[in-house]
Amino acid sequence: MNHGNLAPGPGVLVIGAGVSGLTSALELRRAGFPVTVLAERFGAGTTSVVAGALWEWPPAVCGSHQDVRSLERSKQWCRTSYAIFSELAANPATGVFLRHVNFYFRQPLAGQPGATRKMNEVRPEVRDFRHDAALIAENGIDPRAGVVDAYRYLAPMIDTDAYLQWLLGEIRRAGCRLVTRRLTGPLAEQTAGLQAEFGAELVVNCSGLGARELAGDDVWPLRGALVRVLNDGAGSPRINEAHCVSHEEGSSEPYFMFIVPRGERMLLLGGMAEENQWSLDIDLDNYAPLRAMLQRCRDFLPDLGNLRLDPAEPVRVGLRPVRRQNVRLEHEAATGLLHNYGHGGSGVTFSWGCAREVAARARALLPVGEYPAVAA
Ligand SMILES: Cc1cc2nc3c(=O)[nH]c(=O)nc-3n(C[C@H](O)[C@H](O)[C@H](O)COP(=O)(O)OP(=O)(O)OC[C@H]3O[C@@H](n4cnc5c(N)ncnc54)[C@H](O)[C@@H]3O)c2cc1C
Repeated sequence: MNHGNLAPGPGVLVIGAGVSGLTSALELRRAGFPVTVLAERFGAGTTSVVAGALWEWPPAVCGSHQDVRSLERSKQWCRTSYAIFSELAANPATGVFLRHVNFYFRQPLAGQPGATRKMNEVRPEVRDFRHDAALIAENGIDPRAGVVDAYRYLAPMIDTDAYLQWLLGEIRRAGCRLVTRRLTGPLAEQTAGLQAEFGAELVVNCSGLGARELAGDDVWPLRGALVRVLNDGAGSPRINEAHCVSHEEGSSEPYFMFIVPRGERMLLLGGMAEENQWSLDIDLDNYAPLRAMLQRCRDFLPDLGNLRLDPAEPVRVGLRPVRRQNVRLEHEAATGLLHNYGHGGSGVTFSWGCAREVAARARALLPVGEYPAVAA
């Protein structure tokens, strides 16, 4: 790959190095822009590394999103990401796997218009779709779990430790510049200074929950935690599929069922979605709801009974960046900023779709010129 032929065109500064920032940076670079990524944290230490990370058709199992327009927009992002993750799954270095995910229901789908609509929407978008209540017994779900209907399909599941490292490697390989720094206060007041410092015509805000401060927006945390158990086949058969029951609409309980293989040797057990909880300091010793969540998973899928906790890191906790109107992907003419934040519980799922849109908007916004594309 030759970056030397790049025209000294307008640069782009991306704020944030979670999955939104890194994927946006890569797509911008591949579109030919010189790119700098500035973040307080790269990869590890971001919310993105905590994610499950299961590709899901919206709304995700962690809770319904409210804004209908944004929900419609996000379907195209999902479609784009499904295609790209499916290709990436062919390369083991990416940490992306294509596996079956099973969704279970406490009432027959025929009597649930919302869930049936979602099923009918996702069916043509995915591979190996099957709607069959027999999946419940086939998969060894405890009959006392109270589920009566099910469907499954092939979905990307991403080991975010490996994946974020892979993304960082691609970004470095493509010649992006990385700067570790924490910004404070409104971004709009610093845009001119940042543009001058980094030779950037455009600043792309991918700061996740940080947008609360940087964009002065009402972004709040939806705390999640995943228990990590060893899924290496020692002692118990390996669990190779995901098993989920959605958060029930209207329920005040912030819990749902989320059992998702991660990489080759780990299984994640959840889930939890606690509004406006900021503390990351919860574990199986100090927080009873986490122990109850683990027990619910074991009751649901008895095969989990013998899987041992990961001694190195039994629990990982993170704050989903939630916004009432869901994702903000828009150019703010007054400030010159292009925002891409507020992905809630779907940031990995939306990442490639959003990043493609960011790159397309940058091409439309920046002075007309030839941007030599960089090979994928
Ligand atoms: C338990 C849990 C399970 C999840 N499961 C899934 C799932 O199955 N599928 C799915 O698609 N999604 C899932 N998610 C959601 C997903 O993790 C998020 O939507 C996604 O990580 C958001 O990515 P981001 O890049 O926008 O934000 P982040 O990963 O939070 O990155 C933000 C970046 O901005 C930087 N930043 C912030 N403020 C500043 C500042 N002031 N100055 C400099 N830099 C700053 C940070 O350092 C970081 O680099 C889950 C989340 C959790 C917590």
